[in-house]
Amino acid sequence: MHLLYEGKSKRIYEVDDRTVFVEFKDDVTAFNGQKKASPPGKGDVTARISTLLFEYLKKNGIPTHYVRPGEKGFYALKVRILPVEVVVRNVATGSIVKRLGLEKGKELSPPLVEYFYKNDDLGDPMVCEGHITYFGWATEEELRKMKDLSLKATALLTELFKRAGLRLIDIKYEFGYDPDGNLVLADEISPDTSRIWDDEGRSYDKDVFRKDLGDIVEAYEEVYRRLRAVV
Ligand code: 5GP
Repeated sequence: MHLLYEGKSKRIYEVDDRTVFVEFKDDVTAFNGQKKASPPGKGDVTARISTLLFEYLKKNGIPTHYVRPGEKGFYALKVRILPVEVVVRNVATGSIVKRLGLEKGKELSPPLVEYFYKNDDLGDPMVCEGHITYFGWATEEELRKMKDLSLKATALLTELFKRAGLRLIDIKYEFGYDPDGNLVLADEISPDTSRIWDDEGRSYDKDVFRKDLGDIVEAYEEVYRRLRAVV
């Protein structure tokens, strides 16, 4: 397969006119690439979790780029990604705590939606709806659809994680246009792009690596085991 793009944690290969293969690398990075490691098994477990979550969302009516599972990755439709990241928060932690001085662990009910401009050089700054439509990163209609799908996906995932004895704290989504012109949920959905806590507040996500809290592969395997048992 022809390599189309290599990012920090994934490689995207061209399969045919409409399809790509998304391969997960063992590489894990944080703080915009400043902290790096390659724990064996990280790519494989992240791919299995992302596959399980995309299949669950697809089955529950969320349009996604996901097509079918593969070895250390999945097949997906080619998409033109919009440069907007949608973050949905059920609980305050991470950047919002620093930015707004909130108490870590504060429940955000209903969930809070935030937008970030996807730009590594700028460190993905937070933006408002006005910036997004003014600079043409997405139209008002696209923004409305992205917000609606993000909230629906979060409600579904929050319920799934609860059944698995875990709490979905926050999550980041990316969207793009598939070859048929449909706006679909794209990229990955995994503990790399979300925060997942147990009832004692232990992390089972990329914070394990960001904050040196333990073995990231073991934490992700636990998420996979628990999800597999309830999906
Ligand atoms: P925060 O804004 O608190 O740093 O992140 C909120 C949530 O979105 C977290 O679950 C975080 O992992 C995810 N997130 C936000 N931006 C990115 C990003 O550029 N890459 C990844 N992997 N996750 C992100």
